Amino acid sequence: MPRAAVLREIGEPLEVLDLELEEPKAGEIEVTIAASGICHSDLSVQRGIVGVPRPVVLGHEGAGIVTRIGRDVTSVSEGEHVVLSWVPSCGHCAWCRRDEAYLCASGQQAADAGRMLDGTTRLQHDDTHVHQMSALGTFAERIVVPVQSAVRIPNDVPWELAALIGCGVLTGIGAATRTASIRPGDVVAVFGCGGVGLNVLQGARLAGAGRIIAVDTSPAKLALATRFGATDAVNASEVDSVAALKELTGGVGVDVSFEVIGLETTIQQALRAARRGGQTILVGMPDRDAMIPMRALAAVYGARTIRGCWYGSSLPQIDVPRILDLHERGEIELRALISGELGLDDVNRGLDDLAAGSATRSVIRFGV
Ligand SMILES: [Zn+2]
Ligand SMILES: [Zn+2]
Repeated sequence: MPRAAVLREIGEPLEVLDLELEEPKAGEIEVTIAASGICHSDLSVQRGIVGVPRPVVLGHEGAGIVTRIGRDVTSVSEGEHVVLSWVPSCGHCAWCRRDEAYLCASGQQAADAGRMLDGTTRLQHDDTHVHQMSALGTFAERIVVPVQSAVRIPNDVPWELAALIGCGVLTGIGAATRTASIRPGDVVAVFGCGGVGLNVLQGARLAGAGRIIAVDTSPAKLALATRFGATDAVNASEVDSVAALKELTGGVGVDVSFEVIGLETTIQQALRAARRGGQTILVGMPDRDAMIPMRALAAVYGARTIRGCWYGSSLPQIDVPRILDLHERGEIELRALISGELGLDDVNRGLDDLAAGSATRSVIRFGV
């Protein structure tokens, strides 16, 4: 019986419970989790900002060992190490056929429902079905997931680094290298330098941006941002961030602005900071009722591009190995993303630290 951190009621702390886990069915695998990052989206589910059926095991940024395979599974074997993706792409829907696996229709449906691709669940507690966030639920010792959620990695990748790739790294680096169109020498601004924002910064560096301006209200995060490629820092608690960005660009505005927080005010600032003809990429997960605050005329007259970014437009089967390769060659930073490690029983402390802004990424380590 694996132990797992379960959310029963919105706003309540997670409860670590012993769950019953069924065997993997056709096209599914059992993964023994080795490490899981705690991401802002876990907090959003706990707070009810993102609706997920409950009870639910949270966690969607993890890595582990394949310990059992179901029928018809050929792409992974027992004993292999995998990074988990939170969109299990089917490979044949309208989006998958367009190379937009991150928008897979059936994968998203399963992820939203917290169930396997066949619409059923594999976890139970006291005869109640327990859902899995994003069809994963990585705050658990062992889970069953669709095989499409698994990306094989070499066995020597440290677990705590592998886990982070599954959400924050793919999303952030993908936002800069896949969602946005950054040209060499472009001036880029990133609003919000948490776990994802730091990866947008290093993604912008990979894409060849010239000046990379970090915007945050935390001096500690701005200091960390320089390790991830920021050439300039704007402390938005001290100055008007839009005015500061205009000043740094001779009154023109930045070529590409990224919003990685999800608040109307910072979305508005990111829009105003982009130059005429520039791009604004919305990465942060907003509240259900949040709007994009801008006049239509400003979009037309400004010839602006506004793009929403889902999972960094990533193709995990291609991008996970690419990220590991970049890391091995020293072109990206992973370890410095981790602000602390903790055990499964400390998961609520990890969520509180994230909410308080004192953690970039806490990683839960399991006994693997
Ligand atoms: Zn996440
Ligand atoms: Zn699909």
